[in-house]
Order: sequence, then C-alpha cells, then structure tokens
Amino acid sequence: MTTRILATEFDYLKPATLEEALKILAEKENVRILAGGTDVIVKMKVAGMTCDYLMDIKGIDALDYAKLDDKGVFHIGALAKLSHLEKDPVIAERYPALKEAFHLMASISVRNMATMAGNFCNASPVADSVVPSICYNAVLTLASVRGERTVPVEKFFLAPGVTVMEKDEMLVDIALPQPEANSGDAFIKKTRVRPDIAKISVGARVIRDGEKACFCRIAMGAIAATPAYLEETSALFVGKKVTPELIAEVAAHASASIRPIDDNRTTAEYRVAIAEVLTKDALTEAWRNAGGEL
Ligand SMILES: Cc1cc2nc3c(=O)[nH]c(=O)nc-3n(C[C@H](O)[C@H](O)[C@H](O)COP(=O)(O)OP(=O)(O)OC[C@H]3O[C@@H](n4cnc5c(N)ncnc54)[C@H](O)[C@@H]3O)c2cc1C
Repeated sequence: MTTRILATEFDYLKPATLEEALKILAEKENVRILAGGTDVIVKMKVAGMTCDYLMDIKGIDALDYAKLDDKGVFHIGALAKLSHLEKDPVIAERYPALKEAFHLMASISVRNMATMAGNFCNASPVADSVVPSICYNAVLTLASVRGERTVPVEKFFLAPGVTVMEKDEMLVDIALPQPEANSGDAFIKKTRVRPDIAKISVGARVIRDGEKACFCRIAMGAIAATPAYLEETSALFVGKKVTPELIAEVAAHASASIRPIDDNRTTAEYRVAIAEVLTKDALTEAWRNAGGEL
C-alpha cells in the first residue's frame, strides 16, 4: 500500500447491517464500497479514483463467514479475508487450486486485509482467485433492495473494472459446489518475482471416468480483458482417452485460442508461448490429482 495522502474528499459511511448498506446503495449516487481497501484505496491514492461516499462494509459481521451448507455447497461471505480462506480446512481439502491461488497472492499483510469478493469486484483480468473459481463453477449472489440474483462466475465480468453488477447491487456470497469423486485440479501462476501480479495464470479441473475425462474446465488470467473460461479448449479434453498426446493437443489449442496484449509485465508473444506450457502442466497435474495415470 502506498504512503501517499488520500487527497480526494468524500463522506465516510459505515453501515452495521446488509439492509442498511443496500439502502445506501439504492438511495445515494456515486457510492464506492470499501472492503479490505487493498485495491480501492490504492486507486483513490494513485489513479485518481473519486467517489461522493465511501461505504465501509467491514462493520457487517454477518458477511464474514466461510461455511458449508446442508447440501454440501461451500459459501464464502463478502468479508471473508484471504488469509483466513487460505487456512480454511474445507478449502484445503476440497478446493486445493483455490488455496494455491490465495497463497500466491500479494503478501501476508495484504492478504490479512483483502477479501475474495473484493478480488472479484475489482474485476482485474489478472484476479488470481477468479481463475480457479471458474474451474470450480462458482456461483455469485448479488443483493440489492430489489432482492437477490445469482450469476455464474464466468458471466460476472464484462471488461477491466466492469462487471454485471448494477449500481445498487453488492456481491454478498460466493458459492462453490461440492467436488465430485475422482476430480482433480491445479493452479499455476507465472510472475516476475514471488509476490507479484500474474504475467499469466492457468487453472484446470477435470473429473476422471476411468481412462477418460468426463468433465474439464480450463481458465486463464491475464490473457484477455477479463479472466477467461476456455470453453472450446476444455471440451477437447472430454470423452477421449487421456494421454500425453491429448494433453499436448489441448494445450496447443489453448495457446492458439488466446489473444493477449503486451503490458508492463510481459509481452503478448510470451503469453501465447507460455500458455501452452502452463496448460500442459496444469492438465497433467489435475489429471494426476484425479487419480489418472499417464
Ligand atoms: C501490494 C499488492 C499486491 C497485490 N497482489 C495481488 C495478486 O497477486 N493477485 C491479485 O489477484 N490481486 C492482488 N492485489 C489486489 C488486491 O489485493 C485484491 O484484488 C484483493 O482481493 C481486493 O480485495 P479488497 O477486500 O481489498 O477489495 P477493496 O479494495 O476493498 O475493493 C475492490 C473493489 O471491489 C469493490 N467491492 C469490494 N467488495 C465488494 C462487494 N462485496 N460488493 C461489491 N463491490 C465490492 C470496491 O468498491 C472496489 O471497487 C494486490 C494488491 C496490492 C496492494
């Protein structure tokens, strides 16, 4: 976090309940939500982001949870901190690729403040926790005074910094379905130095049916305007005997199907080349984690 002064003026609001927060979003204009603040405060300090109201939701204790429901779905509330989620035993056992993503994000001090919901709502193409969440078919619940609606994670993002959320809506819950038997997953992130933003990241999840996969989801970060679900590439992995040749074919397809850009972290050329290698590695690891042999 920078030591610059926060130069813009705004009213600071701190609702104690979700109802109060949703009423503020419905009634006031130009409200910015503050969760951990590790994106929003930085943007206000260095990128000229402004607002009339900064609404701190940290007082809404009811949103700070990570728990299983009676159908086996795991729910993560909008205020659950990355450092807590990283140590959660259910995440470690059921969603290891997500645990790995948390572990590779930023530094411990940032993870002590940052939330997973904030990582989603900041809507960066590199958002690390989004990539495995796409592989796990996560479902997001958006709330407003008008009620609640759910959105599959891969439909949440529209452009850098832009999501399907309306101005009066808030992300309240991230739901992860119970993993099926014989499923395996992997998350790989390439950075310049260890606690850095990804040059590229790849997630993969497969379900094994004997020597074939009956399900596959491959997702990537930092290769498009939003975190991406590679649907066509994923489908190539399903229904065929899994061999090193099949993995190589699917990895080549992944690399050929992305259109990344040059930026200050790396080049488009590097991203296309490394996407093939990382997809191969992620699929191999996911397949082995599902109990498959190669
Ligand atoms: C040094 C540093 C290193 C970082 N490294 C990484 C990294 O390696 N990988 C990575 O992915 N990110 C990284 N980040 C970015 C950041 O830490 C994450 O995106 C974090 O998860 C954001 O969570 P937050 O709670 O701090 O969000 P905030 O900053 O509080 O909010 C982020 C955005 O989401 C909105 N928002 C927050 N909660 C909600 C909600 N419930 N409903 C609707 N809107 C909401 C806010 O208004 C804001 O626009 C890094 C940041 C820093 C400062």
